[in-house]
Amino acid sequence: MSSDAHLFCFNIALNERVQMDFNGFEPNSDIKMYRYSSALNHRAYNMARVFEHEYFGHFKQKSGGWADGGRFTMGSAVEITNVFNRQRNLPERLHYGDGFDSRIYFGEPLKGASPGEQRKAVREMVNKPGANNLFVEIKK
Ligand SMILES: [Zn+2]
Repeated sequence: MSSDAHLFCFNIALNERVQMDFNGFEPNSDIKMYRYSSALNHRAYNMARVFEHEYFGHFKQKSGGWADGGRFTMGSAVEITNVFNRQRNLPERLHYGDGFDSRIYFGEPLKGASPGEQRKAVREMVNKPGANNLFVEIKK
């Protein structure tokens, strides 16, 4: 297995430390394992966002994996990276995703939506590929 296939980062033992494998990134900060859709600004999801997720989302918040969210939802460790995306006028990450979907979608969250309404909108996006051209997907 090449180093490209390894997870690019992970946290260990309830956030005692965060490790990042810098072999997982391209020289331009893209994440090697993902293909970026043509419409997505690569800065929406790159080495900086991964660092912010791991460091601010897991290490500083002392949160475990539960803070990631799920297939159609995002937890506090994902939401914190959206703070930085909003500061930079970048599309926000809309969910965490999981092993079933190779895609992670970005865009504008529904304004004033309840968590349930937001989850429903993301579920429809995931179930209808092509509806949103702001995504990364695992390279096949
Ligand atoms: Zn995480």
